[in-house]
Parts: sequence; structure tokens; C-alpha cells
Amino acid sequence: MSVTRTGALPDTSAPDDAYDVTVVGAGVVGCAIARELARHSLRVALMEANGDIGEGSSKANTAILHTGFDAVPGSLEARLVREGGQLLAAYAEETGIPVEPVGALLVAWDEQQLATLPRLADKAVRNGHHGTRPLSAAELYAREPHLGPGALGALEVPGESIVCPWTTPLAYATQAVRSGVDLHLNCPVEKVRPGEGDAPHRLVTRRGVLRTRFLVNACGLYADAFDALLGREDFTVAPRRGQLLVFDKFARPLVRHILLPVPGPLGKGVLVAPTVYGNVLLGPTAEDLTDKTATSSTAEGLAGLRAQGGRILPALLDEEVTAAYAGLRAATGAEDYRIAAHPELRYVTVGGIRSTGLTASLALGRHTVGLLADAGLELGPERPLAPVRMPNLGEAFPRPYRDAGLIARDPAYGTLVCHCERVTLGEIRDALASTVPPASLDGLRRRTRARAGRCQGFSCGATVRALFEEGVR
Ligand SMILES: Cc1cc2nc3c(=O)[nH]c(=O)nc-3n(C[C@H](O)[C@H](O)[C@H](O)COP(=O)(O)OP(=O)(O)OC[C@H]3O[C@@H](n4cnc5c(N)ncnc54)[C@H](O)[C@@H]3O)c2cc1C
Repeated sequence: MSVTRTGALPDTSAPDDAYDVTVVGAGVVGCAIARELARHSLRVALMEANGDIGEGSSKANTAILHTGFDAVPGSLEARLVREGGQLLAAYAEETGIPVEPVGALLVAWDEQQLATLPRLADKAVRNGHHGTRPLSAAELYAREPHLGPGALGALEVPGESIVCPWTTPLAYATQAVRSGVDLHLNCPVEKVRPGEGDAPHRLVTRRGVLRTRFLVNACGLYADAFDALLGREDFTVAPRRGQLLVFDKFARPLVRHILLPVPGPLGKGVLVAPTVYGNVLLGPTAEDLTDKTATSSTAEGLAGLRAQGGRILPALLDEEVTAAYAGLRAATGAEDYRIAAHPELRYVTVGGIRSTGLTASLALGRHTVGLLADAGLELGPERPLAPVRMPNLGEAFPRPYRDAGLIARDPAYGTLVCHCERVTLGEIRDALASTVPPASLDGLRRRTRARAGRCQGFSCGATVRALFEEGVR
């Protein structure tokens, strides 16, 4: 069990030292797969090009724990979203990942959309979701009094929830590492060469070569490029950008549910949703691009969001925007995931995990381990995973600064560092000393919320940087 960021990779040249399984890509999907593998007495490596986990698509999404009511019935995605949503809801309770089951309202703004709602209700039933209910315009406005004028009705979708997208992969990675997985960061796999004997893969990285018996591709936007390293050209990934705006906490009383549009050909459309941090999100856009690094916000994209947000919730536009961000979905042209086992190569590709990977992650982990077993990996008996309890970043749950008993025992939890988000010295200290510590100020923000508030670090930035650079004890 270790986390490495620098230096040579472990020597795997001796026959018995090869990893049993190597998962490439430590987004929410790769971390979930590594965690699932950790249930077995296997030697497992999780390799990530970046210096931290969750730095790809997984750090910039809309943070909805979907029920899967609107998935393509019968698809693998529909099944894994449904199962994954249930698994993650239970796991969140066990580990302290904040989740709020606020429910969604699918709002119809014209007669055509209104006519579509019964079809969406039928689709929900085909996806095993029997709880949807039509709402009249009057019922809708009673539920959401700040909604803009002109809505004709809605479909209520109970069970749709908001979740912390940062704590989720961190919990998986933490549990995987504590249960014996080796996490190698700053370690892009550049080539895959044939190995010898029982370890058919030699992964070439700038930190050395690593031998492995089975290989999993969880490379997100780069799953096609990784496939090509093994001679596979089954699909190409086209990045679909989603830009979002984050509104300040004063906007939170304006919205009670996740307000969804009726979905169109480019996906789920622009929504307004509360976050577990007490903000309000507006977005995402859906822009088909070619550049897999194009995560900038654009003036045009943000103006378009504001125009749509102004119709959905006019008062939102009077509130302050605290941040804008953009993430890239791994679109492949298919209305489903691109998961394929290649037993002859002892290789599984987990690709095309487009706009539901956070929700489906735990089910994707189980599914992938099943595919590895079918491909010949001997799993052996299951053993319990090391327990984890994650620090709470959610507003709806107890935070350290409000816990008098905790502060009495350790005054560091009573010393505020980030006043906007009420982040204490104790929390920053804990994050820096955690199993998978942050490698950057952004990583620290995703672990504590420090610098994520309305001043975006203007006030606390220098102190947080000093704590990060010096380390706190
Ligand atoms: C705007 C937007 C909104 C979304 N909203 C939601 C939502 O509300 N709910 C939901 O469930 N899902 C949502 N999603 C989808 C979800 O975020 C993704 O499905 C999920 O994050 C994909 O995770 P991943 O692990 O497959 O990819 P990533 O997070 O991109 O991880 C892949 C990792 O592989 C690494 N990698 C790539 N190549 C190599 C290599 N050669 N060697 C080593 N490492 C490599 C990358 O550095 C990266 O860290 C949304 C996505 C976007 C963009």
C-alpha cells in the first residue's frame, strides 16, 4: 500500500513481482475499479498521469447523483447508472460523502415539451423508476415560487440527488490505498510493450517500466489513445464541453429541487441545481470540440447560460457569480458506454463514460472486475475493505467549525482559515496528512473547500498557500 508521486516505480522485473492488475487512469471510474479490486488478495496498481486523483473530467461536472430515469432503456449505461446510484447513495452514508436527495423537476416550457413528459414518465418506468409524477403549472409554482413565468407543468422525479463530486473519488482512492492498492501519480503510461511469461504487459512510463498480468483502461477522454497503444481502434472520443456558473450561497433559497429541462439531442440540457456546498449551479453547455484540453470558459458560453438561467430562475441573475468552470464529457457517438473485454490481451477498456460516470462509478467498478474474472483473472476470496470516514464538505451536515465538543478537544477546529467557506486549520491539517494528500492548492480546495467561496481566496489565499507549502502539524 503506497502513494508515489516521484522517483522510480517499484521493481517488477522478477516473475513474482509483477502486478496482478494495473488500472490506468485515476478518475472517479479508475478509482472505483481499483477499490473494487482491493476486495481481493491481488497486487493492484492505479496509475495516473496527473499529480492527483480526479483531475480529469471527474473534477468538473454537475454533481448530480442520477436515478437513471432518462437513460436509454436496455442499455448498459441504464443498468449501471441505476445500480451505481443506489450503491453510491448507500456508500455515501457509510463514508460521509455528502448527498442530498432534493429530487428533480423536469420543467416543460412549451406545448411540445409538455407533450413529451408522459413519454419520459414511460421511459422512467422502463428504467425501473416508478416514482415520477406529473405536476400542473400551479403545483409546479407552489414547489418552486421563483421559477420564471411561462412554465406549463413538470414531471417530478423523486430520488435525483446532489452529491459531492470531489469527496467521492477521494473516498474510493483512500479506501483502495488503505486496502493495499499502490497509487502511482505523475505517471502517464506512454507505451505498452509485450511482456514475457505470465505478465504480458510492460507499461512504459517516464518513471520506469511496470509489469502487469491484467490491464484496465480507465483513461476517460484518452481511452481511445490508450486503446491504440494495444492496437485497438474501436471508437474515438470527441470531447463535449460543459460550461457552468456557480452562484453565491445567497442564491440557495431561490431553488429547492434540481430544475431540469426536457432533454434534447445533445444531452440533458441546461439545469439549475443546488450544490451540497450551499451554492447554485447553472449549466452545463454542450459543445462538441476536438481539443481534449479545451476546459476554458468562453464569453459566448457564459452569456448563453445567463440567458437560459434568466428564463428558468430570473432572480438568479441578480445574485453574484463566484466561479465559472468547464468540464469535458467523453462522447463517442454511441448512446451507451464503450466497455469491452479483450481476454486474448488480458485487457479491459472502460471508455465512453460520458455524462453519468460519477453516478455509475461503483457499478462500473463491479462490472469491470466481473469482466476481468471472465477474462481469466483469479480473484480468490473476498476480504473486507479498510474502513473510511471522509471529512464532511456538505452544508447540510455537521461541519467542524460548529462542533463545540470537537473544538474543545482540538482548538485547531475552532480556528477559521477560509472565512467564506468556514474551513478550519484542523481540516487543512488533516487533508495535508491524509492517505492521499493534495499535490496543489486546487487539490486542497477539493478536499476542504478552502478558497472555494465568494472571495475565491482573495482573503485567505496567502495563508492557505503558506500552510500548504510548509505543511501543518
Ligand atoms: C460538464 C459535465 C457534467 C457532468 N455531470 C455529471 C453528473 O451530474 N452526474 C454524473 O454522474 N456524471 C456527470 N458527468 C460525467 C462524469 O463527470 C464523468 O463520466 C466521469 O468523471 C468520468 O470519469 P473517468 O474516470 O472515466 O474520466 P476522468 O475523470 O477524465 O479520468 C481519466 C483519468 O485518466 C488519466 N489518464 C489518461 N490517459 C492516461 C495515461 N496514458 N496514463 C495515465 N493516466 C492517464 C487522466 O489524466 C484522467 O485523470 C459530467 C461530465 C461533465 C464534463
